Amino acid sequence: MLNELNCMRVTLLGTGTSQGVPVIACQCDVCHSTDGRDNRLRSAIMIEEGSTRVIVDVGPDFRQQMLRQKVDNIDAILLTHEHADHIFGLDDIRSFNWIRKSAMDVYCEPRVQNNLKSIFNYVFATQKYPGTPQMNLIDLDSNAITIGSLTVQPIRVYHYQLPVYGFRVGNFAYLTDFNSIEDHELDKLAGVEILVICSLRKTSHISHLNLAEAIGLIERIKPRKAFLTHMSHEMGKHQDLLAELPAHIEPGYDGLIIDL
Ligand SMILES: [Zn+2]
Ligand SMILES: [Zn+2]
Ligand SMILES: [Zn+2]
Repeated sequence: MLNELNCMRVTLLGTGTSQGVPVIACQCDVCHSTDGRDNRLRSAIMIEEGSTRVIVDVGPDFRQQMLRQKVDNIDAILLTHEHADHIFGLDDIRSFNWIRKSAMDVYCEPRVQNNLKSIFNYVFATQKYPGTPQMNLIDLDSNAITIGSLTVQPIRVYHYQLPVYGFRVGNFAYLTDFNSIEDHELDKLAGVEILVICSLRKTSHISHLNLAEAIGLIERIKPRKAFLTHMSHEMGKHQDLLAELPAHIEPGYDGLIIDL
């Protein structure tokens, strides 16, 4: 069982873009870096407070992330959107189904639920194969939800044209896979102290913030500290980025723990 935490703790489980870093077969310097911080699994975070533990996004590296952080139980999963790098680990929630002897609560919006029902059709079949993962899909909309001791406020962002949810929990916010946000949603981020925000690469992209755009949004939200995530190998090495960025902005890395 989780040792009860007095604070809220966020662990970056993965900080890489959809291909991860290193990229299969890539010969670049970043993909061959000997700095462990340049190895980036697909983006996901874990939020813990008291005895409550929530995972945001369950990509293809979920199994490895749970083993690496020695996670022995989780209470719920929040999904930002249905892209493969955010959901393709869901088959591995079976271990937690067995530990909890119950279905896993998976919070996502109706569109994402429809995608899950199609991609994981065997999970939702009327005649299930024994041992199939069990998910309890729960609607997510613009209203705050309560999971254990955590109050989670969804934040609407846009991934090119695809609506995606980011999340604010207390003075922490996690925003990934987007490149636009409306002012009334930005207002919901007032007072955020720690922000984890996507920054794909330095050059522009149709559906992700690049570094300059991420810095621009950080300057509007004004957190005490911002960590970059969902990074491509094109962002360069962690150490070089750290030297380039202002003191209040750091590249995130897998395993980074943030206590709030
Ligand atoms: Zn992604
Ligand atoms: Zn590379
Ligand atoms: Zn995406």
